[in-house]
Amino acid sequence: MAHPKYIFVTGGVTSSLGKGIIAASLAKLLQARGLRVTIQKLDPYINVDPGTLNPYEHGECYVTEDGAETDLDLGHYERFLNVNTSQANNVTTGRIYQSVIEKERRGEFLGKTVQVIPHITDEIKHRIQILGKSGDYDVVITEIGGTVGDIESLPYIESVRQLSWELGERNALVIHLTLIPYLRAAGELKTKPTQHSVKTLMESGVQADILVCRTEHELSEDIRLKLARFCNVKPEAVIQSIDVETIYDVPNKMLEEGLDQVVIKKMLLRTGDTPDLTNWNKFLHRHKNPKSEVTIGLIGKYVELQDSYKSILESFIHAGAENEVSVKIESIHSEHLEVSKLKKHFGHLDGMLVAPGFGERGIEGKIAAVKYAREKGIPFFGICLGMQMAVIEYSRNVLGLKDANSVEMDSKTSDPVISLMEDQKDILDMGGTMRLGAWDCELKSGLIKKIYGKSLISERHRHRYEFNNAYKDQLEAAGLKSTGINPKSGLVEVIEIPEHPWFIGVQYHPEYKSTVATPHPLFVSFVAAAATFKKNRK
Ligand code: GLN
Repeated sequence: MAHPKYIFVTGGVTSSLGKGIIAASLAKLLQARGLRVTIQKLDPYINVDPGTLNPYEHGECYVTEDGAETDLDLGHYERFLNVNTSQANNVTTGRIYQSVIEKERRGEFLGKTVQVIPHITDEIKHRIQILGKSGDYDVVITEIGGTVGDIESLPYIESVRQLSWELGERNALVIHLTLIPYLRAAGELKTKPTQHSVKTLMESGVQADILVCRTEHELSEDIRLKLARFCNVKPEAVIQSIDVETIYDVPNKMLEEGLDQVVIKKMLLRTGDTPDLTNWNKFLHRHKNPKSEVTIGLIGKYVELQDSYKSILESFIHAGAENEVSVKIESIHSEHLEVSKLKKHFGHLDGMLVAPGFGERGIEGKIAAVKYAREKGIPFFGICLGMQMAVIEYSRNVLGLKDANSVEMDSKTSDPVISLMEDQKDILDMGGTMRLGAWDCELKSGLIKKIYGKSLISERHRHRYEFNNAYKDQLEAAGLKSTGINPKSGLVEVIEIPEHPWFIGVQYHPEYKSTVATPHPLFVSFVAAAATFKKNRK
């Protein structure tokens, strides 16, 4: 296909309607028809990237292969499509302004007054087309963050208007996602908020081609026709998006509603007759028909907000389906643990995962959790900070280094078992000093090597501190083995206790690479270990 087609997804009425899932589901259907599809997210906030955002603000920060710290929607895109994303797939207002201001400083605007229109909108249009111009995709779906009518969204909507005009009717299309509220007292679904938000979009010169309507109740023919008439779209372009049990049901729901058909017809896309969702549906079947259940404790400090550990939760869904086991996650706040009642907190768990994180808050609870799992033989999985906590726990309680700590928590500790490496020490700027993105790791021995079934792996990182190699020999002699090493830097990537049934800590984030099509082997093995642990306990 010579020219890529561009699909824009905007949102109206309220936020949190699930634009990311709709975009990912449409992409899945088009991909299943043989098209090469990618998705991009434009975020209207001023942060250059979400890396510096507290997870409470914006949920998890998702990391791509090329080390971009991005919006968690990119995680959905990868999990649905099984295709990698990159920095180009997530653009923020901060990044747009940063590059325009840098150009201005270099004198590239030749003395012109630099303005939102055309300079900011030109930069947005350029960013939207980077992926399309690579030649790698037939369709680029661009999700515009925020809600239509927000001040911050205006330059994006204007860019969509200009680009749709420039690309021409068959090459660009706008999907508007809205909410159809149900008024219980009146017993009715209401279309007015949707009419208003479509109108707001039109005030900016953008006509929605397709309406995707989030609703708790079925939309009747009458309501569909009314929406079509007042919002100026074809009746078949009114797509119902009813609440479902799992986000993984949405592609099938969109297929039933004919979302992909409407897109194909409008853009004259040449594709296969029906999408091949065989593997997807096999996964769904296993996910919905588990043969047993395990309870895994997720010990972290951002547990109040589900989105903070999004990729970990989704990885458990993939791994659960693979094992035909339902994984019940019990979120345990590491700050609120009563150290005298650990049995109450952990005694019933079949597996314990100590989560990634930053800063001192809640770390003693995490260390107590590691100790409990280690001593009771409960399958233990430590990710990033969780792995570092396992090293600290072992150093304190097995090696007897009572003061052992990470310099992140105590810069003056006499035993900095987790530390900054020499070349990092003089870097003070918080944004952009971390080890990010894909790095190689050589698996030397142990359970980890069996789990992956190979010696050289590559996994994504997002951390500043490292296992301190000065303690490696002592820890190994005492039973905590370093079984995965970065071949270039010698940095420790994996630790495990061979004496324990399943005790693995990884400095990297396996959760970013688990997808529906390729569940992550570490999560699959951990869930299997939890199931075995549960069986043997009875
Ligand atoms: N705070 C730790 C570090 O920077 C771990 C980070 C994480 O868990 N992602 O090294």
